[in-house]
Amino acid sequence: MTETVTKPSAQTGEIFIDREYIEGLLEEARHTSDDTINRYLDKAERFEGLTHREIASLLVTNNPDHLKRIFSVAWKIKQRIYGNRIVLFAPLYVSDYCVNRCSYCCYNCSHQFNRSKLTMDEVREEIRILEEMGHKRIALEAGENDRECPIDYILECMSTIYGMKFKNGEIRRINVNIAATTVENYRKLKDIGIGTYILFQETYHQPTYDRVHLGGPKKNYAYHLTAFDRAHEGGIDDVGGGVLFGLADPYFEVLGLMIHNEHLEERFNVGFHTISVPRLCPAEGMSMRDFPYLVDDAVFEKIVAVIRLAVPFTGMILSTRESHAMRKKLLRLGISQISAGSSTGVGGYAKQERRRGTPPQFEINDDRSAMEIITELMDDGYIPSFCTACYRNGRTGDRFMSLAKSGQIKNVCLPNALMTLCEYSMDYGDGYFKQKAAETISREIPGIANEKIRVRTAENVEKIRMGGRDFFV
Ligand code: SF4
Ligand code: SF4
Repeated sequence: MTETVTKPSAQTGEIFIDREYIEGLLEEARHTSDDTINRYLDKAERFEGLTHREIASLLVTNNPDHLKRIFSVAWKIKQRIYGNRIVLFAPLYVSDYCVNRCSYCCYNCSHQFNRSKLTMDEVREEIRILEEMGHKRIALEAGENDRECPIDYILECMSTIYGMKFKNGEIRRINVNIAATTVENYRKLKDIGIGTYILFQETYHQPTYDRVHLGGPKKNYAYHLTAFDRAHEGGIDDVGGGVLFGLADPYFEVLGLMIHNEHLEERFNVGFHTISVPRLCPAEGMSMRDFPYLVDDAVFEKIVAVIRLAVPFTGMILSTRESHAMRKKLLRLGISQISAGSSTGVGGYAKQERRRGTPPQFEINDDRSAMEIITELMDDGYIPSFCTACYRNGRTGDRFMSLAKSGQIKNVCLPNALMTLCEYSMDYGDGYFKQKAAETISREIPGIANEKIRVRTAENVEKIRMGGRDFFV
């Protein structure tokens, strides 16, 4: 297939998503020969990533042989780069006030319910419960409302959380998912110690974006699209993107994500740290019938696997929107980070949302406890990881990316996963869990390639068993 669609150049601050370019790629991709697709898969198997054209061809193929190979290459990449580690986190919803009218979200300001935001005492209560579950990493979430939930409120929540210490430790990393904002506000988030700034574009397809965003500041596609540029200008070099699959053509969205990632790499030398793959879920005040691009399981599996092939060094996050069975499948196709024991309502962990009648932002499909999820991960041969080391070691931005791309990152991820698993098992595990964790740790320590780090990890595991805590490399 000869290349006829030309990639447009992106200038600073402009809309760098070209709809015609992406649609042209997808149209051309339908004529890719079987041999060519196999060559693209050979390339992916060498961890070289994929061009837009190659990604488009893998997205549109429905040939069962190609699909089988896409899935097996995704598993190979996952194993080689991420091993069997799965990083865990939990969302914390602090405010459901919102001035936007997103047609897919129950926090849409035209929906009537008793809105709330957490007081600092309530934040402490939620964090105490999350810490009792063993969480060390959270994603702080809030709707957009400058009056009820200004940046100072978010900063106050963060400093409250970082200031809390418990018998078994503390929340060590706060990722933040709040509305697109100014360089000045991003600088404040950086100064207080944000982990990753997470923002979903929702859809890269501008006509759909305009249609589903009925009102409010979020309606401004360009302002939303360039939020990560401003975050970088404010000093945040660790950002995580995503779309809400189900709003527009999912293949268009994957290419939009890839182009956004490249835009950031070109401008700041560092692309997405993570990509989230939420799928549209039922929520109060919306009907799934209004969304013609709902993504079925087969297409969703293909999308996750193709993203894994296209950007092998970018972490992929899955939430409890997906069912237990689906999460299990997707872990094999590229997901490296999952939430566990989640509540998606304000005050949800303290079960206050029921007393107040406030709804969750969306319905979850995996309502198992954190311990059930973590135990099953180990039973399935994964290493649950509570690692937060990179952010705490200043290993972000291009420092992180160069380690990731050279494959060196696993020399720190594996030891950190084992040390945090040991800590978790000592502090939260029953007899069965402690034994499983000990078996996993003994099995995996010999796999740490660097001898110095291997010896240090074994020593630290012993120290943790004797009561020491919070070791990381
Ligand atoms: S998606 Fe976000 S911005 Fe839109 S209504 Fe929901 S909370 Fe508000
Ligand atoms: S070492 Fe860094 S990249 Fe690896 S799990 Fe920990 S925080 Fe993530």
